[in-house]
Amino acid sequence: MSEPHVLLLGAPGAGKGTQSKRLADAFDIEHVTTGDALRANKDMDIGHMDTAYDTPRAYMEAGELVPDAVVNEIVKTALDSANGYVLDGYPRNLEQAEYLSEITDLDVAVFLDVSEPELVERLTGRRVCDECGANYHVEFNPPEEAGVCDECGGDLIQRDDDTEETVRERLRVYRENTAPVVEHYREEGVLVEVDGEGTPDEVFEAIREEVDAAT
Ligand code: ADP
Ligand code: ADP
Ligand code: ZN
Repeated sequence: MSEPHVLLLGAPGAGKGTQSKRLADAFDIEHVTTGDALRANKDMDIGHMDTAYDTPRAYMEAGELVPDAVVNEIVKTALDSANGYVLDGYPRNLEQAEYLSEITDLDVAVFLDVSEPELVERLTGRRVCDECGANYHVEFNPPEEAGVCDECGGDLIQRDDDTEETVRERLRVYRENTAPVVEHYREEGVLVEVDGEGTPDEVFEAIREEVDAAT
């Protein structure tokens, strides 16, 4: 049997990163995330791709989408070498969804449903380890010692784009560009919805059941 091909959809802050890590461990598949890949390559020169700005950083700090050509190539390269995968943070518009359909087949698209006030609280309270990428929340998932990663002792920082103003813009971009992607997969019949407002363990169990049912 081939390994699961899972797409995790949801607004910024819905818990995609948190749940993708768990899924990747549980099913022994790759976690493919455009957000982490772009953060690791924020200053790469994309000027030759005929883009408005020369680096991903400029788009990310404004809360705007990085151009499709850049993220499509990241995803193509990652999926080429993955057996099974959980894809997180892509596709974010219909053009990316179209490209994805040309390079792979999905078993299931899981939509994590979380209300907007909850998303804002989660994003503005998010802290990430600048060494290992582990993620925390000042209130919902605090580290044992404030500012220090439980996993590796690294410093916990706030992402540049997790400020209230940029969060509002990211949610606007989500509603305009990414919400139609959710509807696209619903129409295709591969979408399942999971309540994303339970505890991380509850949400994980619900996703696991859907992946088991689809594969
Ligand atoms: P979150 O997990 O909060 O939704 P991400 O880490 O997925 O945030 O994305 C952070 C930023 O990286 C986005 O605001 C956008 O600028 C850029 N980005 C990530 N994935 C994509 C994508 N598929 N298409 C365009 N831009 C992307
Ligand atoms: P996304 O990748 O969708 O942007 P994250 O997984 O990074 O979302 O989660 C956003 C923030 O919300 C993080 O600070 C994380 O610790 C917290 N979080 C994730 N899942 C839950 C949950 N089920 N309940 C409360 N907080 C959560
Ligand atoms: Zn760490």
